Order: sequence, then C-alpha cells, then structure tokens
Amino acid sequence: MVADVIVETPDTATLVLFTGNDRLDYLPGHFLTIDPHQFDALERFTAFLEDLKGKKEPPRAYSMASAPHEKYLAFTVKEERYTSGSTKYPPLLSPLLVRLMSKGMRIAVTGFTGPYTLPDDIESKTDHLVHLCAGSGSVPNLSILKHALKFHSKLRHTFLYSNKTWDDVIFRAQLAALEQEHPDRLKVIHSLTREQNAVHGPSVRKGRITADLLREFIPDPTASIVYACGPAVSTWDRAAAKAAGVAPTPRFMESVIAGLREIGVPDDRIKRESYG
Ligand SMILES: Cc1cc2nc3c(=O)[nH]c(=O)nc-3n(C[C@H](O)[C@H](O)[C@H](O)COP(=O)(O)OP(=O)(O)OC[C@H]3O[C@@H](n4cnc5c(N)ncnc54)[C@H](O)[C@@H]3O)c2cc1C
Repeated sequence: MVADVIVETPDTATLVLFTGNDRLDYLPGHFLTIDPHQFDALERFTAFLEDLKGKKEPPRAYSMASAPHEKYLAFTVKEERYTSGSTKYPPLLSPLLVRLMSKGMRIAVTGFTGPYTLPDDIESKTDHLVHLCAGSGSVPNLSILKHALKFHSKLRHTFLYSNKTWDDVIFRAQLAALEQEHPDRLKVIHSLTREQNAVHGPSVRKGRITADLLREFIPDPTASIVYACGPAVSTWDRAAAKAAGVAPTPRFMESVIAGLREIGVPDDRIKRESYG
C-alpha cells in the first residue's frame, strides 16, 4: 500500500510503500518491477500501444531509493516525456506513477533483483567509492550510499551528480543532510548542464561531467571503485540511428565511461547500470 508520496522535483516522486513485512529481503542497488497491466486507468492505452508495437508491454524496473535497514520500502520515479517529432511512442507507466498515485492506493510490485550491488568485501577492494549519476540514476546510488555510510565505516564517498538544472536535482536535501552528518566521508558535487542562474556554491559546477571534472574528484583512479548509473543509448536510439545511417549520439553513460577511461580508471573497477 502506498504510505506516502514525496514530490522530489516537478517531474519526480518517491513512492513509500507499506508492505506489512518487518524485514524485506533486498540489497542496496536492487530494483523491483511493476507490471503496467495492473492499472485499470491504463488499460486502453496499454492495449493500443501493444497493437502499435506488436508485442506485450513488459513490466518496468524501478530501483529502491530506500536502504534495507530502513523501515519503509521506497522507490523513486522520474516521469519520461513525449517530445513530438523525436519520441516514437508516449511513455506508458512513469507518468501514472508520478502524477496519479496517492496515499492508500495498492500496487503490486515484484522483485527484488539486479547485479548493481556492493560486494560484502568492498572495504578490502577500496576506501573510495565514486558515485556517478544523472537524473533518476541517483536512486540506486542513494540506497548504496545510505547502506555504506552505516555499515562500511572505512569507505569514503564522492557523489558526482549531473542534472539539467538545480530544481531537477532529486534528493537534494537528503544528500546535503548526509554530507553534513558525515563531513569526512561524503562529498557531493552537482554538475548542472542547463542552469541559467548563478551557481550555488563551490560544489555546484556548470556543464557536463567531463574528464577534467572526473580527474579533479578522482585523484586515485586505479584505487577507487566507480558506480555509474543513468541514461545510456537505448536499443531504440541505436535502431533509429542505424535507419538514419548515423552513429547514435552518446548519452550520459557512454560519455562518462569514455571520461573514466581517459583518466585511467580500469574497466573492472567500473560498475554500471543503464536506464536507456
Ligand atoms: C535496472 C533499471 C532500473 C531502473 N530504475 C529506475 C528508477 O529508479 N527510476 C526511474 O525513474 N526509472 C528507472 N528505470 C527506467 C524505468 O524502468 C522505465 O524505463 C521508465 O520509467 C520509462 O517507462 P515508461 O513506461 O514511462 O516509458 P516507456 O513506455 O517504456 O517508453 C520509454 C521510451 O521508450 C520508447 N519506446 C518504448 N517502446 C518502444 C518501441 N517498441 N520502439 C521504439 N521506442 C520505444 C518510447 O518512445 C519512450 O521514449 C530503470 C530501468 C532499469 C533498466
């Protein structure tokens, strides 16, 4: 049952669930899945999209924003947009989850699963975890961060977070509070790609996450471990680019992976989860 809906930004909401269970068996970084067929409000739209696409609409994945030691299960959804001329089909589920869910509603979720988790022996591999996120890519990393701050006391964290504007930053207050609580163990840096107003302090940078920014905050590229999560070139982007005879435009994941390689982070020290 939805116990609360927290509006994080104009297009993003966290759904806090009451499950009736004291302990839920998931790891930080895991995701749950939601089948759009359960929502009566989407029935006609789902059927229409299935006719157009010629296949059944699959369940969508959403990472947990909560950490397993916390009382409630929570996940956070950023609404996908339809842009006339560039989006092939209107997004099905995320607008409903962000705009139409309210306290007391019931929702069936399945899971929990996923490979984007911390190994138990993380402290023997590194003392510096770098979180590289864009948009809703911060969701699993917030769960990992909260867990690691509590249970892996030797780990320091750098949380490099890319968004279009200051108002798009999900978990802004929560990240600031964690940083205040753990000043020696957590540093949060925001990179804002389209902010028009004055930059808000030394830990807010304008522009994308470039190799130079990575070099500045990852002084130990062969000793750090990076958890990168955000949009990547999707199968649809790849098919559209192929049809147009061009290479797909790199998105967040492709460009930060190139930057990490440039500054010398070995591939086996980069863990990634793509939302493309
Ligand atoms: C492991 C994982 C974890 C995730 N965690 C989160 C999270 O924590 N928070 C979050 O907000 N999101 C998360 N996502 C993304 C989420 O699962 C959904 O993809 C997202 O919410 C969009 O779903 P939708 O139903 O609104 O849009 P969809 O209906 O899936 O549409 C999305 C886009 O795909 C295009 N598209 C769909 N079908 C086709 C087709 N057949 N041909 C061409 N184009 C097509 C649409 O035009 C649209 O642009 C995660 C994804 C993964 C894989």
